[in-house]
Amino acid sequence: MINIPEIFGCNVFNETVMKAKLPKNVYKNLRRTMEKSVPLDMETADVVANAIKDWALELGATHYTHWFQPMTGTTAEKHDSFISIGANGTALMEFSGKALIKGEPDASSFPSGGLRQTSSARGYTAWDPTSYCFVKEGSLYIPTVFVSYTGETLDKKTPLLRSMDALSKSAVRFLKLFGNENVTRVTSTVGAEQEYFLIDKEKYDQREDLILTGRTLFGAKPPKGQELDDQYFANLKPRIAAYMADLDTELWKLGIYSKTKHNEVAPAQHEMAPIFTTSNLGTDQNELAMEVMEKVALRHGLVCLLHEKPFEGVNGSGKHNNWSMSTNDGQNLLDPGDTPMENLQFLTILCALIKGVDEYADLMRLSAASAGNDHRLGADEAPPAIISMFLGEELDAVLKAIEEDGVYKTQAQDFEIGVNALPSFPKDSTDRNRTSPFAFTGNRFEFRMVGSSDNIGCPNALLNTIVAEELSWFADRLEQFKGSDLFEVELKKLLKDVLKTHRRIIFNGDGYSSEWVKEAERRGLPNYPSIVDCMPHYTDEKNLRILRKFGIFNKSELEARTEIHLEKYSKTRRIEARTMIEMARKQLLPAALDYLNKLVLSISAKKEIGMASKTEQKIADKLNDLCDRFYDSIERLEKIVADACKISDVQKQAEFYHDYVLAEMDIMRGIADEIEINMPQDLYPIPTYSEIIYNV
Ligand code: ADP
Ligand code: MG
Repeated sequence: MINIPEIFGCNVFNETVMKAKLPKNVYKNLRRTMEKSVPLDMETADVVANAIKDWALELGATHYTHWFQPMTGTTAEKHDSFISIGANGTALMEFSGKALIKGEPDASSFPSGGLRQTSSARGYTAWDPTSYCFVKEGSLYIPTVFVSYTGETLDKKTPLLRSMDALSKSAVRFLKLFGNENVTRVTSTVGAEQEYFLIDKEKYDQREDLILTGRTLFGAKPPKGQELDDQYFANLKPRIAAYMADLDTELWKLGIYSKTKHNEVAPAQHEMAPIFTTSNLGTDQNELAMEVMEKVALRHGLVCLLHEKPFEGVNGSGKHNNWSMSTNDGQNLLDPGDTPMENLQFLTILCALIKGVDEYADLMRLSAASAGNDHRLGADEAPPAIISMFLGEELDAVLKAIEEDGVYKTQAQDFEIGVNALPSFPKDSTDRNRTSPFAFTGNRFEFRMVGSSDNIGCPNALLNTIVAEELSWFADRLEQFKGSDLFEVELKKLLKDVLKTHRRIIFNGDGYSSEWVKEAERRGLPNYPSIVDCMPHYTDEKNLRILRKFGIFNKSELEARTEIHLEKYSKTRRIEARTMIEMARKQLLPAALDYLNKLVLSISAKKEIGMASKTEQKIADKLNDLCDRFYDSIERLEKIVADACKISDVQKQAEFYHDYVLAEMDIMRGIADEIEINMPQDLYPIPTYSEIIYNV
């Protein structure tokens, strides 16, 4: 029997451990740093470092590493042992405050989008004391941010931390309008539901596409997909259950409150959801969770696929980013509350979000953009690429009442804003709209667009910034009326205006329908189907303005990021195309030709003894034609990829990959899948979809 409270966080240098291991005044200093972001003095840092080291050694650590989240999209770590030279050739285990606070990895091999030339390859990692250190696989992990020597961000974590500060400042100021004089800090929160696939390692090892690209580039649809809806919430097969139990234990040890697990819609697809926490911890924990998910799978002879679209024809995976804000006096700012004033505050925040999401829909869209997610968004299974907001009928009716100076009628009461308390809104899942990219779910918003493998730092950083901007917009206009009788009148006027202008972003209908695409166009909402369409808008003047205003990015940081994303897109497609070519030339085409050869030999042997071979002749003709077309496609794809490589403009190159390389890849796959259908199972050189997704 596993004792959860006992193992929970046993590998984390958390609050409890800090309190127990640090002298009182040192603990107090550290807390201050964590809460108010004041720098830690070297003396305190030395004591903390020594205490962390002793604690880590007890847990079997020999090394420490500054753990960071560069623009590669995965986490990075370089391990140094605690070892130093003692007297008479002995070894000492040492760890200084300096080593805890700052590391200096060679930054030249990380994507920087031209921010950092190799000649000035210096970057450094700085401890983020708001996220806990932990021990894993014999090393002490120190969560850090990664910046260049000239201060530009090179990672996904720094913008997030900056955005959290910006949001806090704006929100604290905003909340004073509603009488919250005691609120000194507002923290954005996140709970990321993580979807994933589990497949057998033996099958995985036979597919070069899965190994090199994380998704299947070939594979005919199996006779059974997800049409029976028999996988969602289905009972757990023993092997999956054992994996999930093991995963839970590992996550708990690392202080991650793994809470929910279930089978998802597609065959072999599952989900894990933790209890929400602050955005920065939530981001670190999600990165860690993904790593642990992959590693635990291997122990079970399984492979965990985090790619957004590992298999065609069944659902892909996303990451539902549940987002809210909480105050240091315990309010959830997206909870309607029990008094008229609390409701007024809630409704104003809601309108701020409506305004923000409408004005910065492009930022929201591009925060979830990646090569993998391009296969999901708008493909009848994930939210469309068009940003809209779902509020539910009740809330929508309340907003209509504000807009039209009316009252909101329920069976029980007539609600007048600022006079009566709002009736409570149903939070049960029947009221959920699962086709909306940004849905209100009773006490938080669920941003459903994010890809399963993506780092959630960027979506949360941009969302925080947008909300920081809108809350300060309201504060700018209302502060002059604070405490006066005019406050409510002016506020209502403002809300009315905002709703009139930005109502178009609210959509409670079916986001997967083709009517919505047309309707959204009529409303003038942007629709960027691909990363190549939305990325150029990162540096639009209005976006640059707020990102600069709150110190999230400057212009060159933003340009660098745009370039990194587009370059990554092109590289991903290039690797996929080359993998296809290699598999086609070395495995699929030879197998098809072998089979064709067999057929031809058999046909001619039969002919010699005067026997007809109608069926074999038919298959041979068909296969012969398919092989010809397949070979032509291989040659074409090779040439197109070579052409793509010659394009030097990053945007143009990405567009070329999107328009031409991807198109030829689709053609080639179509032919290969037809070859697969026409080949005997034992002669086809790679495992089929049925063998992969129904095998565990
Ligand atoms: P569903 O699948 O019905 O959307 P889940 O229970 O799977 O719901 O996931 C909901 C997620 O939302 C959980 O991670 C939960 O902790 C998180 N969540 C709940 N309240 C908040 C909040 N105030 N801020 C951020 N996340 C929240
Ligand atoms: Mg959900």
